[in-house]
Amino acid sequence: MPKSCNTGDATSIKSMQTRILIVEDETAIREMVVMSLHREGFEVQEATDAASAGIAIADKIPDLVLLDWMLPGMSGVEFAKRLRGDEMTRELPIIMLTARGQEADKLSGFDAGVDDYVPKPFSVKELIARIHAVLKRARGFGPDEILTVERLTLDPVSHRVTIGDDQIKIGPTEFRLLQFFMTHPERVYTRGQLLDRVWGSNVYVEERTVDVHIRRLRKLLEAAQYDKFVQTVHGTGYRFSVKQS
Ligand code: CA
Repeated sequence: MPKSCNTGDATSIKSMQTRILIVEDETAIREMVVMSLHREGFEVQEATDAASAGIAIADKIPDLVLLDWMLPGMSGVEFAKRLRGDEMTRELPIIMLTARGQEADKLSGFDAGVDDYVPKPFSVKELIARIHAVLKRARGFGPDEILTVERLTLDPVSHRVTIGDDQIKIGPTEFRLLQFFMTHPERVYTRGQLLDRVWGSNVYVEERTVDVHIRRLRKLLEAAQYDKFVQTVHGTGYRFSVKQS
């Protein structure tokens, strides 16, 4: 069964909201990668085959999939094609883990639509560098990059939010909420999805807690009239958008 874990490591907050699914049947490799990704501050889901990976993705969509080529049942390549054919996962970044140079050769000439591939054996350092590179390409920004929307900026390293020259005094939850919104703009999230992504999947709080923090966040942005970015989508949830709703 897929499981998901949260890291509570405050020093790695920049990666905390990034969830990676590893699909790998070799326990030793999977555990090594999981441990390293946790240390790097990622949230990690695990699956040992395509079927359980499909269930994990339907439950909680990851930001990136590390996909082993050789899996019991459906191969990694077939699964990658399936993900590319599905509206929900068409854009999901995939890094393929390949066992032999031969597979890597095949893959490079093969249109499975994966974003990158890493031949085994690989160093964890190399893998993490590839993950950051693929995420950066997919999102258009890196993990340490300052996020900017008009005069609003969020610095994930110094933990500062400013509007123009004014630093905003922001609570940790509002900071995480704003960081999530600024890194995932123009998409509607339900309260449940926001709880899952911002508060973490192992935290149990009521959905109306989201409304409380949305209200606080809007209040902080009000002075510059940037509260308009945090839009209520009636009957669904919230969206961070620079367009008029
Ligand atoms: Ca394998």
